[in-house]
Amino acid sequence: MLNAYEIVDHKYDIVVVGAGGGGLRATLGMAAAGLKTACISKVFPTRSHTVAAQGGIGAALGNMAEDHWEWHMYDTVKGADWLGDQDAIEYMCREAVPSVVELEHFGVPFSRTDEGKIYQRPFGGHMRNYGEAPVQRACAAADRTGHAILHTLYQQCLKNEAEFYIEYFVLDLIMGVDGTCEGVITWNLEDGSIHVFRGHQVVLATGGYGRSYFSATSAHTCTGDGNGMVARVGIPLQDHEFVQFHPTGIYGSGCLITEGARGEGGYLTNCEGERFMERYAPTAKDLASRDVVSRAMTIEIREGRGYGADADHIQLHLEHLGEEILRQRLPGITETARIFAGVDASKEPCPVIPTVHYNMGGIPTNHMAEVLRPTSDNPDAIVPGLMAIGECACASVHGANRLGTNSLLDIVVFGRAAAIRARELIEPGTPLRPFRKGCADESLSRFDRLRFAGGAISTARLRERMQRTMQANAAVFRTSEVLKEGCKLIEEVWSGLSDINLSDRSMIWNSDLVEALELENLMLCSKATMYSAEGRRESRGAHAHEDFPDRDDKAWMKHSLVWFDEKGDVTLDYRPVHAWTLTDEVEYIKPQERVY
Ligand SMILES: Cc1cc2nc3c(=O)[nH]c(=O)nc-3n(C[C@H](O)[C@H](O)[C@H](O)COP(=O)(O)OP(=O)(O)OC[C@H]3O[C@@H](n4cnc5c(N)ncnc54)[C@H](O)[C@@H]3O)c2cc1C
Repeated sequence: MLNAYEIVDHKYDIVVVGAGGGGLRATLGMAAAGLKTACISKVFPTRSHTVAAQGGIGAALGNMAEDHWEWHMYDTVKGADWLGDQDAIEYMCREAVPSVVELEHFGVPFSRTDEGKIYQRPFGGHMRNYGEAPVQRACAAADRTGHAILHTLYQQCLKNEAEFYIEYFVLDLIMGVDGTCEGVITWNLEDGSIHVFRGHQVVLATGGYGRSYFSATSAHTCTGDGNGMVARVGIPLQDHEFVQFHPTGIYGSGCLITEGARGEGGYLTNCEGERFMERYAPTAKDLASRDVVSRAMTIEIREGRGYGADADHIQLHLEHLGEEILRQRLPGITETARIFAGVDASKEPCPVIPTVHYNMGGIPTNHMAEVLRPTSDNPDAIVPGLMAIGECACASVHGANRLGTNSLLDIVVFGRAAAIRARELIEPGTPLRPFRKGCADESLSRFDRLRFAGGAISTARLRERMQRTMQANAAVFRTSEVLKEGCKLIEEVWSGLSDINLSDRSMIWNSDLVEALELENLMLCSKATMYSAEGRRESRGAHAHEDFPDRDDKAWMKHSLVWFDEKGDVTLDYRPVHAWTLTDEVEYIKPQERVY
């Protein structure tokens, strides 16, 4: 039965959901253009996961040696294992240079070269001259690049008078009868009140869903809320089978050691002391693409060459770099190694293991951040009023595997693109359409159902079952048998939602209710991952299918789409990869064998 909630109404030109790097860059661009902009976040903006990004942001500035955005584009297409949309990749790599220069002008405190230019370090898969040898392309603020970017963007948003709604939890999108997105419905965690926000555009920037897995580098807030919201209004989720395992999560805690550590000269060994990456990737070695390094580590461990009593981890060596480089370039990870592995990185190696890190898939969009709802006539049909950017979106620039530093780049470039597009579409102050009557009812009855849930399982128990299923059945290597079982198991976990029990019924600071809402979103993301992985009968990028070890461009160069019906049942479908570029400045890069 629906509670009679009093609803507070807000009207804006633009409603941005999320205050990570993506949300803040969009908010800044929109507010600076004179659009009345609200930015809503479930946590304080500078606590968003972007704050944890360490290694850098990719842009072919060429500060350390010759570099070109066309080389960056080639590396990104190859890193993506040819599943990326090349028009969007071209846009991102070309716009990278002005976007990073803009960040510098906004005040991001980048590390500097002796001549005072932005310092750039090597990173996995960043190569010169179309794959010849590593290049220094990752623009870094020591090993706290995300922290520097996020704080600077927040200050710029305040300066431009964007309005923030902090510790408001967005429940759902509000859609008009014609399929236009008109706003969002939101729960204020502080006083328990319900609010609706209307806008000409809603921009989802809610981050990834790393917490679908048991061991992840992502913050506990990375629960795929935006993905859940679109899935519930009949928009599909794209390429969810592609989950990135970062090679160097700290063994046991899952905390990240940036790839920048290998960029600065760190390397991996097995228990025989062998630098095994030389066998798997003779040119790039420890700086091969992440999927390649994570698979090599998993094979070493499987074949009995791991360290420790259970031979279950690998060692990362930084001790040869010396205290000065560690202090200057890697202060944060030296501290992380001490706290989370009990290791003094200047003296001994750090135990590491591939750990879930990034979601390549998400809400399908075009290169101007507009959300797509493919139809049988038009695979690129747009949902009016709705944009998505950052880790929750799939533009698709990362394809089957993201290159390090391309995500900070993605959030900045597409946050900026969303603002550019909104300026084209909206005249500030244009009157809003009235909401249809009862437009929030469905969302509020879902809210009530969870709030008063009196079943037998706690949210935490059910979440752990989901996380363990994902960890075991959608891992670095997959088989048809394990994935089929995974679909069955994840359905069982999903049905557990109807038997959930919440101990706290209040509307104020009810963390149990927040976690239940997040769990529902995580489950939709997990189901999309399991089903699309089960469907894809090839190996590409982060999807390593042991029964189908080769990439199959003829049958599988297409994006997976997972549609949900009202009951949460899945239909799997596909849409073609964009096999063209945006301008005639570059040619479409034809598929090649992917070696490093
Ligand atoms: C440890 C770590 C290190 C990384 N290092 C790098 C790196 O060096 N270089 C690189 O390129 N990438 C890196 N990445 C990846 C990159 O940092 C992220 O992909 C990127 O920052 C995501 O930004 P975002 O704006 O999309 O989302 P986030 O920063 O995750 O922000 C999401 C926002 O959405 C809000 N939100 C979510 N749900 C709701 C809701 N229901 N209601 C209201 N608000 C909501 C949150 O409050 C938050 O403000 C790293 C990632 C991790 C985990």
